[in-house]
Amino acid sequence: MKKRSRQQSAQWRSSRRELLRSLGALAVATVASGCTTFAAAPRRSYDVVVVGAGVFGIWTAYKLHMAGRRVAVIDAVGPAHSGASSGGESRVTRCGYGEKEIYSEWAWRSIGEWQALSARSGLPIFHPMGVLWVHTQPSELVQASARVLSRKNIPFTLLAADELRRRYPVMRVGSDEAGFLEPAAGALMARRAIQSLASELKANGVTFLSGAVTPIQAEQGEHGALPAVITKSGERIDAEQFVFACGPWLDRICPDAMANRLFVTRQEVFFFSVDAGATGNLPVWADLPFYGLPSLEGRGFKVANDTHGPPMDPSTSDRRASAAGEEEARAFLARRFPSLAKAPLSETRVCQYENSSSGDLVIDRHPGLENVWLVGCGSGHGFKHGPAVGSHIAELVAGTAKPREPFLIASKLRQQDRAVQ
Ligand SMILES: Cc1cc2nc3c(=O)[nH]c(=O)nc-3n(C[C@H](O)[C@H](O)[C@H](O)COP(=O)(O)OP(=O)(O)OC[C@H]3O[C@@H](n4cnc5c(N)ncnc54)[C@H](O)[C@@H]3O)c2cc1C
Repeated sequence: MKKRSRQQSAQWRSSRRELLRSLGALAVATVASGCTTFAAAPRRSYDVVVVGAGVFGIWTAYKLHMAGRRVAVIDAVGPAHSGASSGGESRVTRCGYGEKEIYSEWAWRSIGEWQALSARSGLPIFHPMGVLWVHTQPSELVQASARVLSRKNIPFTLLAADELRRRYPVMRVGSDEAGFLEPAAGALMARRAIQSLASELKANGVTFLSGAVTPIQAEQGEHGALPAVITKSGERIDAEQFVFACGPWLDRICPDAMANRLFVTRQEVFFFSVDAGATGNLPVWADLPFYGLPSLEGRGFKVANDTHGPPMDPSTSDRRASAAGEEEARAFLARRFPSLAKAPLSETRVCQYENSSSGDLVIDRHPGLENVWLVGCGSGHGFKHGPAVGSHIAELVAGTAKPREPFLIASKLRQQDRAVQ
């Protein structure tokens, strides 16, 4: 492939855009003159096409739209569908990430945008109910989180065992345990958030297309840039730049960049029939590897295990939760929330984490296509960062930021060694 400088490529793309516009005008003119039934409709052409309408794709589309770009979003099924990683009922947002300061910063910045989205939507999207980590002392993760949050003026409170028992009598607390409470954090209504933002974008003129995009390879590049994506039904969609935000399918659609760098694991979630009243003012809680929420909007007491489950195929795997998973969740309840251990199971879900080797997100340029950006590897913690991720991609697309660690594809290994909690 003939290499060109970035500037040459940008000029080439700009002339190409002009040419496409003229072709479109010509097609319209030919049809209007009645001389031909010009079979090929003018190609659709956008500034940026975003493939994938999960949390990363939708916030990217939002930020690009706000920056004045003509954006189209294409999804194989639709925003936050039931098989997508963003399709769950609720997600936790918290800022404590040990020493991983970038995630504390992005989570904190994103909370403001989730609040704003919540305020302009008909139903709540962000429940600022606080997030509590219960841990055995001393915990390096908690100490490091406290240092980072103090530096960044993000509020938190340390709670001794007695105070935990007084505030949250539903919890059994050992004398060597303590709490790390983030009062400004809380829970996000995941599916509702994505679908609300998608509706808002549609109402504001952003194009939404339905269809699976076929995989891309560096060889498809013209002068190092991807000219278009093709849907499985054969439609061609042109754009200046492309963002692939395909969640657990990212390795399939961008195999030369992501093959063997994405570890998709099966994660089970259990909801128990427990009234919110029975858990008092309990916030979102984490007692790793378990975490969960009190009954939010009447959904039931949520318990999930953050340990990576077995590999899973996001398209074909069975999504029935296992009896063993329920037993583990109940054994956990018996230890930490004994009065809830026998509560009836009201609902289960099987979702997937799309993990990178370290747990760090991927936000980077495709190694062989200079106008293609890849975003994903939420690794079980990505949802909360949606707004900040969208801003970063909008800057990459505009050329005002450069790809950076810890998000580079090159730093993602072919075997897992989880470093982000
Ligand atoms: C059980 C569970 C609990 C979690 N808890 C939390 C939490 O508490 N806090 C938190 O911050 N994060 C959490 N996460 C992680 C977070 O939900 C995910 O990392 C995030 O939702 C991933 O979003 P995404 O946009 O990358 O992918 P997705 O939401 O999966 O979206 C990808 C989209 O791409 C589309 N697509 C794929 N291939 C194609 C194609 N070829 N053509 C067109 N479209 C295509 C799909 O249809 C899909 O809609 C959790 C995840 C799970 C599973």
